[in-house]
Order: sequence, then structure tokens, then C-alpha cells
Amino acid sequence: MADRISTLVMFGATGDLARRMLLPSLYGLDSDGLLPDNLRIIGTARTALDDAEFRKRADAALQEHLPEGFYSAGIAQRFLGRLHYVPLDITEPQHFSDLAQAIGDACHGVAIFLSTAPSLFKPTIDGLAGAGLACPTVRMALEKPLGTDLESSREINDAVHAHFPEERTFRIDHYLGKETVQNLIALRFANLMFEPLWNSAHIDHVQITVAETVGLEGRGDYYDGSGALRDMVQNHMLQLVALVAMEPPSDFNATAVRDEKVKVLRALRPITAADVEATTVTGQYARGAIDGEPVPGYDDEIGRDSATETFVAIKAHIDNWRWKGVPFYLRTGKRMPMRDTEIFIQFKDVPYSIFASRGATTRPNKLIIGLQPEESIELRLMGKTPGLDRQGVRLREIPLDIGLANAFSEHRRRIAYERLLLDLIEGDPTLFVRRDEVEAQWAWIDGIRAAWAEKGIGPRPYAAGTWGPSAAIALTERDGISWHE
Ligand code: NAP
Repeated sequence: MADRISTLVMFGATGDLARRMLLPSLYGLDSDGLLPDNLRIIGTARTALDDAEFRKRADAALQEHLPEGFYSAGIAQRFLGRLHYVPLDITEPQHFSDLAQAIGDACHGVAIFLSTAPSLFKPTIDGLAGAGLACPTVRMALEKPLGTDLESSREINDAVHAHFPEERTFRIDHYLGKETVQNLIALRFANLMFEPLWNSAHIDHVQITVAETVGLEGRGDYYDGSGALRDMVQNHMLQLVALVAMEPPSDFNATAVRDEKVKVLRALRPITAADVEATTVTGQYARGAIDGEPVPGYDDEIGRDSATETFVAIKAHIDNWRWKGVPFYLRTGKRMPMRDTEIFIQFKDVPYSIFASRGATTRPNKLIIGLQPEESIELRLMGKTPGLDRQGVRLREIPLDIGLANAFSEHRRRIAYERLLLDLIEGDPTLFVRRDEVEAQWAWIDGIRAAWAEKGIGPRPYAAGTWGPSAAIALTERDGISWHE
């Protein structure tokens, strides 16, 4: 294991992500005794605060965002004692000397977490370098979005790479910090029974759904420049595709796992103008209702006409031996009827049913990995309905629920960022995204956007509270497949 750090510098420390996720995650680690005893956390942003004011704000964030019953005044006091604050405007290079002074020796045990708009990444790196804070031991963690296309992503990566080489760059995709996502790796490679079936001979298709009920949540300025394809598919969903589809890595380490993931991402069949209409659907929510409550349409929410998509469905293919002919249907949207993130794997039906002569039909097995709102793994098998079968055998699909909440009830449910922050502190990049992965993801996404532009395809309206435009249903129904809902 690499050296543990003793100073964590958090840019954007007054922001939403810091308040809702980063500070509560660090508190969670501290409460379990997992932070190094000497760890200092230096927050920085433009707002003029001193240490005491920052600690007060952090305390309020903990009380608001920690799960009920988890806040303890004693642990909070110890945790808040680790916090310091340096006001700094990233666009003012001379401000970085105050930060350098607060950090002291930058060459021993420092990690920096950038939780600011990506347009500030380059000035931050330049400011750090100018103040002698880009020492060859410093680790650099970056939040998404890493650019808006391949070109801008390369610019960010080049700027980072100028001072922080790949092995010290930790690109966050918080989905990789989720227990169920890591459990997918365990399920596939710590069990014998799935891997022999995990291929086009036995899997009919894969569906990945990320459905949100929320609209813009005050993030309209960011979202309108991004859209569902870039905000959700480019990173989180393609990472899930890579983990479902990758070959067995030779070891559970950063190089082996990421080598296998990038091969999948590069094998994604490009979507071009010739097939974009048959393989993608985009939509934007109009006025509707969620849980019986009326909600405004996207344009009303944002206050202008916009061509940004809030929904996208894609039929993707991975062109390699294992996945030849297996469609991966991806679907994500805002203002859907329910919050639901899941990976749905449908196996092929049995090749021949011995029960057909007794009037019973079989259905293909399904493996459903739930990520949100609950983390669960469910295997759907065929079973016989109890009875004497005088009118024939009756078969029914029965769930084998290996829900994580039941199986590991003695373990606290952690925020995904807890795992990632601890790995950053300890220097383990396995669950962070490598540059070649990000670039392969962007290359595929850019192809779809170019095809949309070439064909003049814009989002179709769908009523808030529905599963997107009807064309999204047709996307799978054409193949005789229904979305799992
Ligand atoms: P935010 O609430 O707008 O916070 C931005 C932070 O940057 C604030 O602390 C702000 O503080 C600071 N800042 C802005 N301009 C600055 C400057 N010139 N110099 C120094 N500090 C500056 O944004 P956020 O929601 O926390 O998101 C941060 C990043 O994470 C963004 O890239 C976002 O896309 C990404 N992200 C956020 C979420 C989420 O759930 N919030 C999820 C995934 C990714 P001052 O105003 O005090 O300077």
C-alpha cells in the first residue's frame, strides 16, 4: 500500500458536493477510526471564512446530511478539530501562497481534491505549481465532469498531467464507490457459477437503467450545457457497461482491472448517422406529475427554450467474441416515474422444455443488480408451484433475493465517497478512472452527438412522470424485448 497522507486539501469546500457528500463521508471514516490520526483537512474556496466559521458550517452540514442517528457530538468535535480553512480565489495566482503556507511541507503526505467547476481545474493546477504545491508526491483527485467532449477532456488531462502523472491522478466516478458496483465484480469473479454463462451463448441481452424522479435541483446552468448523454451515460453508465462486460482481470489491482475495462470501452460499436435513429432515442420532459404532484416541464424550469436532452435510450453493442450479438440497452432520464438504478441481465431460455407436454412454459432466468434506491442482487429462477399437478405442471418465476441489506445487516451502509476518499488517502487507484478509459468513453459519446447533429435529431417531449418518449419503448420492442420496470 502507498503512504497514507497527512493533509487533504479540498477545493470547493463551501460547495454542495462538499456539504452533502465529502464532509459527511470523511466524518464517517473518522467515526470508524479509519482516518490517519494526524490527518488535517484544509478546505478552500473564495468565501471569506476562518477556521472557526468553516467548522461551524461543516458541523451544520454533518447534522443536516448524515443519516439519522449517526451524528455524535463527541466524534464531530474530534472531526471538526481536523478542519482548517484558507480563503482563496483560484483565478488569483498570488492567493496560492497562503495555501502553501498552511500546508507547510507539500512533499510529504498531501492529497488535493478538486470539487469545483472543471473550468477552474487548469488555473488551479497552475496556481498549485506556481506556489510549489505540485511536489512529485502529491496526489490529485478530480470530480466529474472531465470536459464536455474528447477534445476538452484531453485539455484538462494534459493540464493535470503537466504536474501530476497518471499514477497520482485519481479521477472520481462515484458509482465505483458504491458497494453493489464492487459486488458486481465479486459476483462475477468470486463465484464459479456465473462466469461460464457470462457470454453471448447464454445471455440474451443486458439493460442498464438510471432513472431519477428529480428535475434540475437548482443545477440548471450546469445541466443545460450537459444533458443526459454527457451527464450520466458518458461516465457512470459506461463504467457499469465496462464492469459487466470486461474479461476476468488477472488480479484485483488498478492496472489489471482498468486494462480490462478500457478494452470493453474501445470495443463499443460506434454509433453513426447511418444507424443513430434506429439505436438512440432522446427526450426532454414536459409538464406532468410525479407521485401525483404536478411538476413543470424542463423549459419552464430553466426559463427558456432549450434543446438539451433529459432522457436518452441507446441500443449499444460490444464488438468482441464474448458479446457478439448481445444488445446492451441503456436508458437514463430525469422526471421518471420512480428512482431506480439497476443492471438487468436476461439469460437465454432453456434450449428445450420438458414441461411443454404438461402445459407449462418456462421463462428465461434474470439477474437484477439494484443500485438505487436499495442495493440488492436478485436472481429470478423458475420453480414449480406447489400442488398435485392434476391439471398440468405450473411453473412460476421465483426470486432468489440476495439483497445486501439482509445479507450484511451488521455492516453500516456507507456513502460511496467514503470508499473513494479512503482509497485516495491510502493511495489505491483501483476504483478510479484512468485517462484512457475517460477518453474511450468520450470518443463513443462524441460519435453519438455528431450523428444527432448530422441528422438534426433533437429531444422528443415526454410527460414528466413517464418512462420517456414512446420511441424508447419501440427501441426494445422492435427486438421483442420489454424494458424491465
Ligand atoms: P458548487 O456548489 O457550485 O460549489 C463550487 C465550489 O467552488 C464552491 O465551494 C465555491 O465556493 C468554489 N469556487 C467557485 N469559484 C471559485 C474560485 N474562483 N476560486 C475558488 N473557489 C471557487 O458545486 P458542487 O455542486 O459542489 O460541485 C463541485 C464539482 O463537483 C462540480 O464540477 C460538479 O459538476 C461536480 N459534481 C457535483 C455533484 C453534486 O452532487 N453536487 C455531483 C457530481 C459532480 P465560493 O463560492 O465560496 O468560492
